[in-house]
Amino acid sequence: MRKKIVAGNWKMNTTLQEGVALAKEVNEALAGATPKCDVIIAVPFTHLASINAVIDQNKLGLGAENCADHKSGAYTGEVSAPMVASTGATYVILGHSERRQYYGETSEILKEKVNLALANNLTPIFCIGEVLEERENGSYLEVVKKQIEDALFDLSADDFSKLILAYEPVWAIGTGKTATDDQAEEMHAFIREVIANKYGKDVAENTSILYGGSCKPSNAPQLFAKPNVDGGLIGGASLKAADFMGIVNAF
Ligand code: PEP
Repeated sequence: MRKKIVAGNWKMNTTLQEGVALAKEVNEALAGATPKCDVIIAVPFTHLASINAVIDQNKLGLGAENCADHKSGAYTGEVSAPMVASTGATYVILGHSERRQYYGETSEILKEKVNLALANNLTPIFCIGEVLEERENGSYLEVVKKQIEDALFDLSADDFSKLILAYEPVWAIGTGKTATDDQAEEMHAFIREVIANKYGKDVAENTSILYGGSCKPSNAPQLFAKPNVDGGLIGGASLKAADFMGIVNAF
């Protein structure tokens, strides 16, 4: 059975000291709890090793928010998948819409990143999602299908099975405007069908597909109640331990 997952995406927020304090708070909240889902935080590169030292990864998974599309070498300022793995992190967000939009990440680039992440035993949390115009002109299903096909369908079934997907409608990210539970379910069911057509029903049924976009404690229960919504990728609300735990406890 596929896993239920709540993952935080801290983005470019918190100093190292603030981040370590926040991670400790989430870790402590989880220490006495038995959540009905896996819990992950994806944090800035600078924080990874320090946070790894203060959390129990049996209860709280740790990930990066990106990695380079090259293994090593003369790429000033980049952080490679082996570097991320060497901090103790085991997840990496790839293809976030902010990376696609502001840093020109294409499916070709993302293919390389996915391959390098997998080669270094990092589990990609791979993001897909349409912009508002595509939602409004009705092309959103085709747009997301193409994002999946272009970046991921060269993978073997075995490698594809290692991925976590996150459907994040761009118009809902950080806007306070959440997709309705029915909109999320329509897309998640469609994504599962796209996977089934390529890799078969078993792989599709075992792939966790998270929803992301202004998810908060108040709307998470309704979203997570949908059969094809396996959890959430949480931006803003992951920066306060109480809000993040409120979403974890929505399961
Ligand atoms: C995100 O960026 O992954 C996200 C879902 O952000 P927010 O929850 O703030 O909309």
